Amino acid sequence: MLNYQSVVERIESFSNHSPNVTLQTVARIAELPIFFLQVLSANFGQSMPKILISAGIHGDEPAGVEAILTFLEQHLPRWRDQFHFDVFPCLNPFGFSHNLRENSDGIDINRTFEDEPTVEARAVQSVLEHSKYDLFIEFHEDWEYDGFYLFELSENRLQLGESITSAVSLIGKLHQNALVDEYRTNKKAVLRPTSEVRVRGPMPVYLFKRKKACRTITCETPSSFWSMSKRVDAHLKALTTALDCLLKENQYRPEFYQ
Ligand SMILES: [Zn+2]
Repeated sequence: MLNYQSVVERIESFSNHSPNVTLQTVARIAELPIFFLQVLSANFGQSMPKILISAGIHGDEPAGVEAILTFLEQHLPRWRDQFHFDVFPCLNPFGFSHNLRENSDGIDINRTFEDEPTVEARAVQSVLEHSKYDLFIEFHEDWEYDGFYLFELSENRLQLGESITSAVSLIGKLHQNALVDEYRTNKKAVLRPTSEVRVRGPMPVYLFKRKKACRTITCETPSSFWSMSKRVDAHLKALTTALDCLLKENQYRPEFYQ
């Protein structure tokens, strides 16, 4: 299993050895830092699509945190010319350290972005106050189901969900045409909640409603059924497929946010 000290060491090492990377500590919870990394594109004179990546808001969902570390350490060079990346590698270090979904006050951080934000949610809101993204992608895990699925919020944009789940289906089974709580995924394991059914308070809904992200993807890997390395591979595949799609969208231009 992972421990948070090793996450801290890997992030600091990455930051110290990478050009054009800034590392901020946006809050400390029980002395554990919540990090925010900014990775400027190698073409930083030009306007590049901006991607926000986040994991670990639920502390008992470690595969997303490991996927982000692996992406930064091994995959970034392939993408640095084409994107700017802002990254929250682990938003709930207390939960991560204790294998708990909630934070140190027993609160689910991912329900507090609209009403009475937790310290962690406030730290995110504050550091993103003036930020806008072409894509927000976050990594979660779901112990109840045996296949991968995702949520997508998008308005008048190329939809990424089915391309991502098709790519992930080469790694493992999809949770397709199946219930997630009272909702049902489509035959490609994608859920696009309408505004009426959107739960209040999750980070992607907050970012989408405030037009800080013009599209959001929430990936869910089956933590009770797949090995850690398979779940990490699935998140990495989801991220790199999303980036590929954005590049292919021709000649994709970041028309939304310059
Ligand atoms: Zn989660």
